[in-house]
Amino acid sequence: MGLRTGQEYLDAIKVRNKAEIYVLGKEVKDVTTNPFLKPSVLAFKATFDAPWEEDTKDLARAWSPFINEEVNRFNHIHRSREDLAAKVKLLRKISHKVGACFQRCVGFDALNTLYITTELMAQHGKTEPKEKFVEYLKTVQKKDLALAGAMTDAKGVRTLKPSQQPNKDAYVRITEVTKDGIYVSGAKANITGVAASEEIVVLPTRAMGPEDQDYAVAFAVPTDTEGIKIVVGRQLNDARRLEGGDIDSIPYFYNHEGLVIFDNVFIPMERVFLMRDWEYTNQLVEIFAAYHRQGYGGCKAGLGDVIIGASYNLAKQMGVEKASHIQDKITEEIFLTETMYSAGIAASLNGIEVCPGCFWVNPMHANVTKHLVTRFPSQISQLAIDIAGGIVGTAPSEWDLKNPKLKEYIAKYLQGVEGYTAEDRIRMTRLIENVALGVAFQIESVHGAGSPAAQRIMFSRLYDLSYSEEVAKRLAGMKSDVHFKNSAEPWRLSETEKLASKTQKTKDNK
Ligand SMILES: Cc1cc2nc3c(=O)[nH]c(=O)nc-3n(C[C@H](O)[C@H](O)[C@H](O)COP(=O)(O)OP(=O)(O)OC[C@H]3O[C@@H](n4cnc5c(N)ncnc54)[C@H](O)[C@@H]3O)c2cc1C
Repeated sequence: MGLRTGQEYLDAIKVRNKAEIYVLGKEVKDVTTNPFLKPSVLAFKATFDAPWEEDTKDLARAWSPFINEEVNRFNHIHRSREDLAAKVKLLRKISHKVGACFQRCVGFDALNTLYITTELMAQHGKTEPKEKFVEYLKTVQKKDLALAGAMTDAKGVRTLKPSQQPNKDAYVRITEVTKDGIYVSGAKANITGVAASEEIVVLPTRAMGPEDQDYAVAFAVPTDTEGIKIVVGRQLNDARRLEGGDIDSIPYFYNHEGLVIFDNVFIPMERVFLMRDWEYTNQLVEIFAAYHRQGYGGCKAGLGDVIIGASYNLAKQMGVEKASHIQDKITEEIFLTETMYSAGIAASLNGIEVCPGCFWVNPMHANVTKHLVTRFPSQISQLAIDIAGGIVGTAPSEWDLKNPKLKEYIAKYLQGVEGYTAEDRIRMTRLIENVALGVAFQIESVHGAGSPAAQRIMFSRLYDLSYSEEVAKRLAGMKSDVHFKNSAEPWRLSETEKLASKTQKTKDNK
């Protein structure tokens, strides 16, 4: 059965016996009931509910040729450009349900990355990784497993390669190889949803050379494995969840990130997909980054919608919704949101078939999408704060609202337009505070899928400056002939397309 319900997912992650999961310095066994992690588990659960809900079921289900069954899209390998677009749309829709990051995309992108990478390896004569990966994929799809994707290493000194680091474990590495498997040590940082996942798919975080081969490793490991320690990081307003209220922290849905420490963890050989294959790390990083950057056009647009709705409602609560500057600010929020989404859709519909039946996003559009996301969410948030008023930073707590001695005063002084209560105003204000200023919208938007500079490096690699120079020289009368490209875009091939086309050319020449 390739589709589980949300409840089946909750039951499956309840007990952790082997991995150590720490929240605020204390070990947690049941992540489903821990008040700190519960909102994150519920946000993850929304991805399992999606195939069963009327408005999302078509987007959330996909047919898998690997197991000949319907699977949850989060475990699907993209078979068409429409599949890529469906991903962006689904992410936008689930953001409407949870108002937070639902944490299943990194694993989704890691699966698709490994599929293309191992396929390219197979085309170059190394067939075993693909065979092992497809077996793993079938298990993931059949059991509808919840995956976290772990790429970002601790990284130590940023300018040094893994093998040059004073701390040899600054990047996850192979410490021993036996006939049955490998042992790995190191740590992956900022891993989304990891305590709520069942499996961690680990990828190398940068392109590597032969001297770094012990670090060129990709594998999958059950989250509940001996030697894995997860240190859950803090989020905005997180301690409010421990108060037990239902307004201030928006305690229903939230994401979490964690530091994942691998303390000499054994990985059976059938789960190792890259083992010292440093030659493929360049393409792997490019493939993953582009997939993940495309996805942000969906989820961040979805959070933009939540903030637009909240801004509009608060404007109405205060009677300013018809003021021209307020309307203009809401229009600007819409423009910023739809721009991110349009870029994500362009990255999908201009996707590239890099191997037969497997589709990668358009790398230029995907990088542009993410770069917009590094800027627009903070602009949307500023506009929302402008519209909401200073109360976003000063609202009384829900405990004041619920105190019989204060209730009447708060009801009287926080109410705006009749028909809305003070509680309505506080609830909507808290939504803006928690979503617009939260980690997913502010910090993940900047650093998730790579810091802003990483996308700028990609634009300059992909854009063929010398070609547009030739075009300009001709129009300026400096040059009479230009060999015009067939394509409209002055772009170069990505490393992945080059590797894929090399295989194609070799085949054509045979
Ligand atoms: C909320 C959130 C969720 C995330 N989820 C995941 C996840 O699920 N899985 C995952 O694998 N990763 C995840 N990430 C990690 C994300 O991919 C990284 O944060 C990102 O790649 C940046 O790495 P860093 O945080 O180590 O920043 P750094 O690399 O420390 O960057 C800090 C600054 O230094 C600059 N810099 C870095 N290296 C160099 C260099 N060599 N030369 C010059 N300048 C440099 C950067 O451009 C940046 O400006 C998440 C991050 C966040 C914030």
